[in-house]
Amino acid sequence: MTNKIGITPVARLVEVFSAIQGEGLNVGTRQIFIRFAFCDLRCHFCDSAHTWNAPATCRIERSPGRRDFEIHSNPVPLPILLEWIERQNIPSLHDSISLTGGEPLLHAAFLVEFLPQLRNVTALPIYLETGGHRPEQLAMILPYLDSVGMDLKLPSTSGENRWQEHAKFLQLCYESQVEVFVKIIISKQTDPGELERSASLVAQVSPSIPVFLQPVTPLPASEQLTENPVLAPSPEQVLMWQALMKRFVKQVRVIPQTHKMLNQL
Ligand code: SF4
Repeated sequence: MTNKIGITPVARLVEVFSAIQGEGLNVGTRQIFIRFAFCDLRCHFCDSAHTWNAPATCRIERSPGRRDFEIHSNPVPLPILLEWIERQNIPSLHDSISLTGGEPLLHAAFLVEFLPQLRNVTALPIYLETGGHRPEQLAMILPYLDSVGMDLKLPSTSGENRWQEHAKFLQLCYESQVEVFVKIIISKQTDPGELERSASLVAQVSPSIPVFLQPVTPLPASEQLTENPVLAPSPEQVLMWQALMKRFVKQVRVIPQTHKMLNQL
């Protein structure tokens, strides 16, 4: 399976598996996860730092939910990835396919070729989980997406500052009429002024876009990425910040990472 210029597209992957989505609008649904390698951000709370570089091998679940992983070398040719997804896609089990990472949009050139074929073989809705900071790459694959979970990174919490890119990104999603929601990680260190700015950014695109405040799951001491550990917010902070944001946008839901509570991947 080659493209117009006679080359088989390849992807650098971390893993492919079937699991319960633990975050955002699709919480509790069953998805096939395709986890791509590489991320160009360095969030202080990152629980996927192993994705920042491409490993020499990736792990592929043989039967959905059994955790019977096979090891394959990277990069992975497009037809092989399609075969793996078809194998995972047993009738009626999955609600959608999650493109996750790392940052999947760093693979936009691959996704442009892969997603139309993926849709043909599974008919499952395609959901993108992203840092929400690469609008140019998003535009390349938007026609093939059904929904987008976009992170909005607060400088006080993540160490990243991407306000302009986030505004462009959200506007593009909204104009394309793809289903979109915004996820914001909050911690004890979160600056409420940044939450107000985030709520205003979302409201300027549309006050109806759902916002999910996700209290951080603190990393174990051995995996801390910064000198000052990122700690969970207090119950009082969460209540105050939800109220603050609801002055701008209609839906502000507070949901922690439920897959960690369920001991899922
Ligand atoms: S965008 Fe996601 S994968 Fe990348 S550093 Fe931030 S939390 Fe980690």
